[in-house]
Order: sequence, then C-alpha cells, then structure tokens
Amino acid sequence: MSEFELRLGWLYPTLMSTYGDRGNVICLQQRCQWRGIAVTVVPLDQETDPETFKTVDVVVGGGAQDRQQEIVMRDLQGAKADRLRSQLDAGIPGVFTCGSPQLLGKYYEPGEGQRIEGLGLLDLVTKHPGLNVPRCIGNVVFELTATPLADDLKAMLEEGQKPIAIGFENHGGRTYLGDVQPLGKVIKGYGNNGEDGWEGAFHRNAIATYSHGPLLPKNPLIADWLIQTALRQKYQQAIELTSLDDRLATQARAALLKRLELPTLAEKS
Ligand code: GLN
Repeated sequence: MSEFELRLGWLYPTLMSTYGDRGNVICLQQRCQWRGIAVTVVPLDQETDPETFKTVDVVVGGGAQDRQQEIVMRDLQGAKADRLRSQLDAGIPGVFTCGSPQLLGKYYEPGEGQRIEGLGLLDLVTKHPGLNVPRCIGNVVFELTATPLADDLKAMLEEGQKPIAIGFENHGGRTYLGDVQPLGKVIKGYGNNGEDGWEGAFHRNAIATYSHGPLLPKNPLIADWLIQTALRQKYQQAIELTSLDDRLATQARAALLKRLELPTLAEKS
C-alpha cells in the first residue's frame, strides 16, 4: 500500500494535549506505518495559514482545560473555522475528544466566565454547571450506534459482535445534543451529561466523543475506520486495509471489561 499517503491535521497540539489524546495521533501514525502508508502530521494552530486547513485528510483534536480551550476557541474563528467546517462537511474523517467537540458545537459555557461561541458545526451545546459541581470522571463504555459508522464497524467485526468503545472521561461540561446523531449509547459512565444516556456525536465522518483513554489505541477498530475512510475519501477507490496483530489490545480490552463487570462485551481473541 506504499503508494498511499495521508496528511493528519492535529488541532492545537500544545494547547490541547492535557489529557493524553496525542496517543490518537501516535496510534494513527503507527498503524499507517505498519502498512506502509506515509503520514505527515500537520499542526493546525495559531501559526497556521487558514489554507493549510484545506490540505489535510484526517483531523485529530484533543481535550484541554477551560483556559486553553478558550484561547483556541477565540483563534479558531473566521477563515480557519470556515476551512475546517467545509472539510468536515465534505466528509473528511476526524476524531475530536472532550474539549474539541465542545468547540465544534454552538457554544461552551465554562465553569467560570462568559459563554464562548463555537464553530456551530455540530448542533450541540455544552454547559459547565460550576466548579463546585463534581466532574464526570471514570471509565466509560458505550455501544457505537451512529450510522453509517456502526454498520461499517460491524462489517469489520466477527458476525454478531457489537461495536463497543472503551475510554476514560474527565469533564466538567455537560453536552446536550440538538439535531445531530449521538455517537453511541452509554453502558457504563456518564457520557454527554450523565442524564440522557448518550455519548458523543457523529457528523458526516467526524467522531466527537468524551472518551480519552486515549481512544484509538484502546479501540483499534475505530483507528482503522478513520484510516480507511480517509484513504477512500482521498483516493476515491475501495481500499481494504491489511489486518494487524491486535491480540494485545484485545486482551487489554477483555481485562478492562471484566474489571468493569461487562465480560460478555469482549471480542474473541
Ligand atoms: N474544559 C472541558 C471540561 O472540563 C474539557 C475537558 C477535557 O477536555 N477533558 O468540560
């Protein structure tokens, strides 16, 4: 597959790397490298020319604390916001974790201070109920239900297996969805707000989630879906990825699901 290459846009690497989500970048890079697919990591931040946003094939955005998130939300406006919005609307895939979906939504109300406008790409709003209210922290397990993502993932799994994601959440903000699909249904944890049972959001090929972990090394199936979707989108041809030896990841998932008293959700290794 060495003729293929991907440009991976990484949103504000220095400001939005508080929660270990750089692991998503490393995971995508490594899984591409094992298959001979070249990857160039392109930082998308304050220094970046807006036109560069148009050149990437897949986007990763990580979590941030409120203060850093606010700096990003103020920078990601105008031409940069337009370019990112049109890329995601056109179907380039991405994974956006915690603080990132909050900024892709309509607005974020931080624990202290004024409401900050988001990109409005996702019809969702996020409100932090205040610094005295407990944060949503802990392991999270959810079934991916968004279409067509869930069907694509089922096709990559063994017959009859459900696409289950495992992660770790740590957020003060509570997200409420408008006219946008949820990413999945919470089995364990809080998800978007700890009330309505939904986790994340899904728009075209963009995955928005509260799940750190980081998400992709814990859920290699989602990493491969992103790579496959990015390649198909870029090269406009049916591309099947070669399979990798994921036995260690599968064992780690089974161990965690057992600890969380959900052993029946584990895949066969
Ligand atoms: N600032 C956000 C919150 O606390 C995001 C936190 C995060 O990215 N983990 O809700």
